[in-house]
Order: sequence, then structure tokens, then C-alpha cells
Amino acid sequence: MRCLKCGGSTTFSKPYCQEHVEFCDYAATLIREREQRLREQTRVLEEGPAGVDLESLIVSDLLKVLSNGAAHKVDRTFRLLNIEFEVMKSLAQRLAREGLVKRVGLTTRGEGFLVLNQATS
Ligand SMILES: [Zn+2]
Repeated sequence: MRCLKCGGSTTFSKPYCQEHVEFCDYAATLIREREQRLREQTRVLEEGPAGVDLESLIVSDLLKVLSNGAAHKVDRTFRLLNIEFEVMKSLAQRLAREGLVKRVGLTTRGEGFLVLNQATS
């Protein structure tokens, strides 16, 4: 078997050589996290704001995006995070309730802007 990264020889039929075995772990982590994000989304779609786990990856993704302190449009940010709009709205609702973010210019459809609540960060 040849290393998927550099084409070098591998041992024990592994997809990566000694040098790139770390990359293998990294790829596995990415796949695991992607699956976890999908599970988190499914739960939020089913349970709404109450199904939002504050320790979840999708929440930390959103807080990371907001960490520059700028206002982010709700109906754009969901695309950036690669989540569904319904999930984004539930996240916004829950995080606002927890005092982690502020909602600005909220519309009836749940759009408007989100800003990190600096007082609590
Ligand atoms: Zn390699």
C-alpha cells in the first residue's frame, strides 16, 4: 500500500506512511467531528432551542465566528457554518436566552443580526 499523502511505502497496509500517520489521525478527527455536527444538528431540528447543547461543536463554531465582535446576519451565517437555517435560528434563540449573544434587528422570521455578548465573554 502507498501513502495517500506522499505515495511513500507504508507498513501493515496502513493508508499513510510513518511520516503522515498524524495526518491520518487528523483526517479521522475531522470525519468524527463532521458526524458529531450532523448529530447535533439533527437533535436541534427535532427539539428546537431546548435541544441545543452549549458544549456542542456547532455552538463553538458559531461563537468562533462571532468572536471578532462584529454583527453577523443570521440568514447568512448559517451558510458559513454549513448548517440549516432552522438550526441557526434555534442556536440564536438559545444562545440569546443564555445571555451569550445579543440579537439585533430581529424579524418575525427569526432573521436579523447576532452579536457576541461582550459582557459575558
Ligand atoms: Zn506519507
